[in-house]
Amino acid sequence: MVQHSQTRDARAEPQWRFAWRVPARAPWSGVIHRGETLRIIDLFGSQAVDTLFYAASARGERYCAQTTVRTQRNIYVRRGTVLMSNEDRPMLTVIADTLNDHDTSAGCCSKESNSVRYGAETRHQHACRENFLSELSRYDMGKADMVSNLNFFMRVPVLADGSFAIVDGLSRPGTYIDLRAEMDVICVLSNCPQMNNPCNAYNPTPIEVKIATVPTSP
Ligand SMILES: [Zn+2]
Repeated sequence: MVQHSQTRDARAEPQWRFAWRVPARAPWSGVIHRGETLRIIDLFGSQAVDTLFYAASARGERYCAQTTVRTQRNIYVRRGTVLMSNEDRPMLTVIADTLNDHDTSAGCCSKESNSVRYGAETRHQHACRENFLSELSRYDMGKADMVSNLNFFMRVPVLADGSFAIVDGLSRPGTYIDLRAEMDVICVLSNCPQMNNPCNAYNPTPIEVKIATVPTSP
């Protein structure tokens, strides 16, 4: 019989109801209920995680990068950021973040954009858009439901003249972000397969996703 400590601080050791190691280049999706925490862990560092959110009860309501940026008056996603929907409602809040530098400007990779940006020979390479479409099909959603996404752990500094570029990431092995759901949401993510720019350090690696039944931070 396994003995469990009754004195353990519940906040120091969240109760995870779900944990899954997402292989390099693979998609994942799941439902996070209101009040639960989604943790995304960059297990090996410098791995972009392209992510979409949809309201579980009304999928026409989904993450809106423009509303999020406008509401917080800042282009970056970091601790304290409230991810907003296209109906101006809070979907999730970043309650812990060991990086504090995530992108929601640069969009996701696709076979089409790869071939334009990196040459026709890259057209066969698997990409986030294909990951999104295959995962969205599980919820009877498709191309028309894809919106501008978040890129967790991807570094896209915006310069004073407004220009920006994807540069080497700063996330180290074990870097994580915690998001508290403010409504029941469907998370659809692509563990980015990109090999033609620094977003994955030219070497896609596994990540881990976990869901806790309570917020992991105040
Ligand atoms: Zn990608």
